[in-house]
Amino acid sequence: ALPVIYAITPTYTRPVQKAELTRLAHAFRQVPRFHWVVVEDAAVRTELVARFLARCRVPFTHLHVFTPRRFKRTGMPRATEQRNVALAWLRQHRSRRDPGVVFFADDDNTYSLELFEEMRSTGGVSVWPVGFVGGRAYERPLVSGGKVVGWYTGWRPDRPFAIDMAGFAVNLQVVLANPRALFKRRGSQPGMQESDFLKQITKVTELEPKANNCTQVLVWHTRTEKPQLANEPKHRRDTVVIEV
Ligand code: UDP
Ligand code: MN
Repeated sequence: ALPVIYAITPTYTRPVQKAELTRLAHAFRQVPRFHWVVVEDAAVRTELVARFLARCRVPFTHLHVFTPRRFKRTGMPRATEQRNVALAWLRQHRSRRDPGVVFFADDDNTYSLELFEEMRSTGGVSVWPVGFVGGRAYERPLVSGGKVVGWYTGWRPDRPFAIDMAGFAVNLQVVLANPRALFKRRGSQPGMQESDFLKQITKVTELEPKANNCTQVLVWHTRTEKPQLANEPKHRRDTVVIEV
């Protein structure tokens, strides 16, 4: 059987949340053998997300963990706790007998269906280009003789793994075999989450290049504009309550 793709999506309450999750679900529901691990940055599972997931026709697990407010300052890495809760869930609920691939899918990115075909064969850790990161149209691993030999990036090329969260996947067995590999808050600089995590489980020379030797962009680090809500009524609300 095909390995199951586990997509880990941290998400938080804001006006565009349901629209973001809808866009993701429309892609994910077309991917065979797919399991969506949605981790809310919230003190409880919200009704909005619970209802959404129940109807989205994607197999899912719904988790939550609230990010302490002291970690919510600008310049601090986002969704560290949520990704770690998802890794803990996988370690508790999956075993040596479960073929799988783990991928970190932020809720605002844009995913091509081809990306999932590429990552499905990840034996250890695989990598590919990501659009709109590093201050460039794309970032990508540089490949020579089938091996990653460096990074094309506009930002801190000295990073051990100059790659965005959306630019790699990890075989589930690698996650299980490294039970202490986690995303770090302490000592982690902005933009170093990926490197800090990947350092714990692999080496640059072992990375598996996907997307035609890392020459195709199949995922984009898009960011959604905040909707303008200046004209929301303060007192005379609508006559019905509508979920957005
Ligand atoms: N996120 C979260 N809590 C927050 C901010 C972000 O769970 O307080 C999630 C967000 O939904 C997304 C991921 O963390 O899935 C990355 O956040 P964002 O897209 O804002 O980061 P950026 O695009 O700047 O890397
Ligand atoms: Mn984002």
